[in-house]
Amino acid sequence: MDSGTPRERSPESKTKSSEDSHNVATSNEADMAIREKPSSSKTSSMSTSGETDVVDALASQLQNISLPNQILSDLSMDGIVAYIRKKPCRNIVTMVGAGISTAAGIPDFRSPGTGIYHNLKKYNLPYPQAIFELAYFKEHPEPFYELASDLLPGEYRPTKSHFFIKLLEEKGVLLRHYTQNIDNLERLAGISEEKLIEAHGTFYKSHCLGCQNQYGFEWLKRQINRKRIPHCIHCNALVKPDIIFFGENLPRRFYQKMYSDFVECDLLIIMGSSLEVEPFASLALRPSKMCPRLMINLVPVGDNIEFLFGKSANDRDVLWIGDCDAGCQLLADKLGWGDDLIKLLATDETTYSSMERGTAETSC
Ligand SMILES: [Zn+2]
Repeated sequence: MDSGTPRERSPESKTKSSEDSHNVATSNEADMAIREKPSSSKTSSMSTSGETDVVDALASQLQNISLPNQILSDLSMDGIVAYIRKKPCRNIVTMVGAGISTAAGIPDFRSPGTGIYHNLKKYNLPYPQAIFELAYFKEHPEPFYELASDLLPGEYRPTKSHFFIKLLEEKGVLLRHYTQNIDNLERLAGISEEKLIEAHGTFYKSHCLGCQNQYGFEWLKRQINRKRIPHCIHCNALVKPDIIFFGENLPRRFYQKMYSDFVECDLLIIMGSSLEVEPFASLALRPSKMCPRLMINLVPVGDNIEFLFGKSANDRDVLWIGDCDAGCQLLADKLGWGDDLIKLLATDETTYSSMERGTAETSC
């Protein structure tokens, strides 16, 4: 398959991932064994030479010294905060998936029970991913548009995580925001188009699959709300939103920015992604070995991304397990930006409430 098209990891690679996980556990055990070795050698050496006591004591002291060129002072959120202040960071790259939008009420794709892929039985699809496959869509657009009516942007508000990314932009430290999401919430949070890479496309624009005529979001929304399959007003061919289906190339801008952004990136923050869809997932491999990577997620992911979580060689990867909004608030608080984040959210709520009141008054 074209390397430019989004694709899920194959069952083989997933099997490999679980093997890799096993290997990680094994290597952790090996690491522990290596760390334990000095004390056993110490026991034997004590009986033979006092010189080795001195060497052991020095080695023990060295373990506790923070070297001046050490990337992170410690492998925690505090270590990340100290790094951001000390460097200081100006080129933070964020990578996000559906996990930052679940608090807005939008289902993610893979959560058992509530994920989109687990609730597609009513569409009689040959397999769940078919709903986002171009070849299937051309023959059977109905399931996609029925699902789209439930997911249509405009019915949801951005989450605290979205506003945290907006806050990074306002503080002048955001280089780029890469999102897998097609829910438009980054735009609603006010993240500027220049900072935004919608890797899997957007509902914001649509195109005719025949003559390529472009349609705006409001036109598409009207068609979907009227339960119509959108067809071109010029040639009557099927119209498809510019979201990227399996089998389609990612937006050109994704590749254009990817090469330069990850050279400049001085901190990578990954949130709410399963890192199972390529080529998006492998963006996490692109920063230099001197660039810290912070993952805020409900579960650790990215077996194939060579994260160093839990390994003795880890000098740059921090895993924070939990809810994305909580992780963002904690990071903002530790940076002294907690109140700014709360203000951004409050401003959005006020604006949105007055918009809703305006709509209600207009419709009366
Ligand atoms: Zn057309």
